[in-house]
Amino acid sequence: MTRASGDSAAIFKANQDRAAPLLAKLRADGIGHMIGGGTVAASNGEVFETHSPISGNSLAFVARGDAADIDLAAQAAQRAFKPWRDMPATARKKLLHKVADAIVARADDIAVLECIDTGQAHRFMARAAIRAAENFRFFADRATKARDGLNTPSDEHWNVSTRVPIGPVGVITPWNTPFMLSTWKIAPALAAGCTVVHKPAEWSPVTADLLAKIVKDAGVPDGVLNTVHGYGEEAGKALTQHPAIKAIAFVGESATGAAIMAQGAPTLKRVHFELGGKNPVIVFDDADLDRALDAVVFMIYSLNGERCTSSSRLLIQESIADKFNERLAARVKTLKIGHPLDPATEVGPLIHETHLEKVCSYFDIARQDGATIAVGGKPFDGPGGGHYIEPTLVTGAHSTMRVAQEEVFGPFLTVIPFRDEADAIEIANSVQYGLTGYVWTGDMGRGLRVADALEAGMIWLNSENVRHLPTPFGGMKASGIGRDGGDYSFDFYMETKHVSLAKGTHKIQRLGA
Ligand code: NAD
Repeated sequence: MTRASGDSAAIFKANQDRAAPLLAKLRADGIGHMIGGGTVAASNGEVFETHSPISGNSLAFVARGDAADIDLAAQAAQRAFKPWRDMPATARKKLLHKVADAIVARADDIAVLECIDTGQAHRFMARAAIRAAENFRFFADRATKARDGLNTPSDEHWNVSTRVPIGPVGVITPWNTPFMLSTWKIAPALAAGCTVVHKPAEWSPVTADLLAKIVKDAGVPDGVLNTVHGYGEEAGKALTQHPAIKAIAFVGESATGAAIMAQGAPTLKRVHFELGGKNPVIVFDDADLDRALDAVVFMIYSLNGERCTSSSRLLIQESIADKFNERLAARVKTLKIGHPLDPATEVGPLIHETHLEKVCSYFDIARQDGATIAVGGKPFDGPGGGHYIEPTLVTGAHSTMRVAQEEVFGPFLTVIPFRDEADAIEIANSVQYGLTGYVWTGDMGRGLRVADALEAGMIWLNSENVRHLPTPFGGMKASGIGRDGGDYSFDFYMETKHVSLAKGTHKIQRLGA
């Protein structure tokens, strides 16, 4: 055994040892809602069972929320709103930093629980909690500026704008990297002065429960963050319909976003949607092909490909396609599938058997459409017997095929060759989605032209996706509405208010005088 693999075995064992008592406690306690600062069962006593994707073993019984629980949580958020809104921003800032400190203190626990609940590999989850803490710190520091506005004086008036928090908001999140993702929404909402009702995904309730407890223990007042577990059609739907909830920040599938928009219409909900993607990575023949190859592999096979920003379509210039595909196939074949707690693992099991079936259905779809499965294309018998599949590479595709159009949301890459710049842009834009695009070229002029032409909210040139919190995060077309990050988040969680002060010099029309 090499020294590296010896270290790896020790870390694997340490991760398992860390997880064992946490899992025992989870099984014994179950997972309740957090409403008004208290952990409570569903009001009708219903529960659902959550399982680990590694083995299918039961992890816990979870409160199954419905409209009654959402109503209690919305009322708690409503009661907590004014005191939280009116708390000096400097005090809110301090509390949110305390949340960040507490997340860092529990980072190793969060990492192992997230691996076991979602199947994501530890090498990626180890930093997920740290990134979540960074989200809290970033928005904590901005809390004191959230109310800032503009001064736009006119001849007779002094015009100023300010922002005020919109009220209690609903946050609905998916199951891929759920801890980190939920903090992107919850941290800016709290920093803005909103209170929150969070409905986490039913397939990954574990770390959402931990977050609710961390926030409470850090001293954030009761009712400021409420968490109601349950199914989308029940708790989720009720949240989007509740009149006390002023806005819904949603991350999930495009079809769910459309349903939420309809559900929220009667109560005029403001909505912010981060939805699906079928993101292109375009590799031109003048690119640094070694770096491009690393980024292509990373951006679809990390996080099990269950990543909204994954580059799930490789658009490769015809002149280099054969050679690049050969090198790519060699890399995909040697990806390490394994137990999520093993630090050597690069690809873990998929979240749920239903999702496994969905991803596997694309093997036949690819063949029926006439594409070639160059690597993978089968379930994989991994440790624990869970929802593993072989990382899959599909070649010989063209842009009208379903594997080139639909979001698979797994370790599944579709390769499409292109002739020239115009052809690449046309193929890239030929999907309903528009979340991200990645362009690899040695010609910066071309890079900028292509970036400008791509219909996507975020473009990286000669880079994989590297998140920088002040920058706008979000998608065009069916990939979303609105932007997160920096001040963009506050624009969503706050109302802009205009105040005009007369200098006392302007003429007022005198009617009936
Ligand atoms: P999903 O839409 O099935 O579920 C997301 C959440 O919505 C869950 O909490 C679910 O319970 C809830 N929900 C479902 N139906 C609802 C309804 N009618 N009313 C209210 N809530 C409802 O998505 P998923 O399968 O959990 O997540 C995967 C999807 O999320 C992918 O499409 C992925 O691209 C997308 N995603 C997007 C981003 C982004 O930033 N754009 C980030 C991560 C994931």
